[in-house]
Amino acid sequence: MDMEGKKAIVFGVANKRSIAWGVTRALHARGAKLTLAYQGERFLRAIEKLLEEEGISDALLVECDVTEDGAIGRVFDQHQERWGGLHQVVHSVAFARREELEGDFTETSADGFKLALEISAYSLIPMARAAKRLMGPEGGSIIAMTYLASQRVVANYNVMGSAKAALEHVVRQLAFELGPHGIRVNAVSAGPLQTVSARGVANFNDMYRSYAEKTPLRRNVTLEEVANASAFLLGDESSGITGQVLFVDTGFSILAAT
Ligand code: NAD
Repeated sequence: MDMEGKKAIVFGVANKRSIAWGVTRALHARGAKLTLAYQGERFLRAIEKLLEEEGISDALLVECDVTEDGAIGRVFDQHQERWGGLHQVVHSVAFARREELEGDFTETSADGFKLALEISAYSLIPMARAAKRLMGPEGGSIIAMTYLASQRVVANYNVMGSAKAALEHVVRQLAFELGPHGIRVNAVSAGPLQTVSARGVANFNDMYRSYAEKTPLRRNVTLEEVANASAFLLGDESSGITGQVLFVDTGFSILAAT
């Protein structure tokens, strides 16, 4: 799993619990050079501290709210200036308003729906467009983080289920278009992890506990397990895999009834 010489952009580190942080550590440990795109100024200090503690001294940090016009393109431009090449992109960004993550799905507002879909699914498209521009003839690998609520009804996920269904379709459509350029696009479907985003879902803690009792492995997945599977999809060892959703969920998704 040697990533010496690989250059990666990771979107979505907020704190040490973020899936994007787990992936950042896994890529760094394998020798990849990193650009981290973070949502806004308020995250910067915490990310700098994490990098310092991890001994990552050369990462490029670029602010990027994915809803801002041109912001995603600027991340890729700055990455290119700093590192002169791109092989891996990690989309680990999602958002829905708190009031859309509880209660009746029929109450979902048009605004809330658009915002959730724009941030959580659409944003992968401009990232892939920019990646295509930068990735050389040897191509590269793009991954996005999804969740089972794309296919099954998970209480309270509401509009985030719609967003994940859209995201998984976007992954397949991009994999089809970018395949001839040697660029692979896949999704990792993680079991529940205690992150800021997850805790925005009503009754998340109850669900988290009940998963651990029901999954074939009788426990929840760890950040490191999700990060290692992500590194596999980003690296050359998965060179024959594209357009797929890889479940890293201690087996929960195989259960017929829960
Ligand atoms: P997190 O809160 O640590 O990460 C979410 C990230 O999205 C944050 O860094 C946040 O700043 C970023 N973000 C939100 N709006 C943004 C915007 N407008 N512009 C730029 N960035 C923005 O939580 P996480 O659980 O690590 O989430 C990462 C991904 O993993 C998400 O796609 C999430 O749906 C997915 N996921 C999480 C779980 C889980 O249980 N935690 C399970 C499966 C999939």
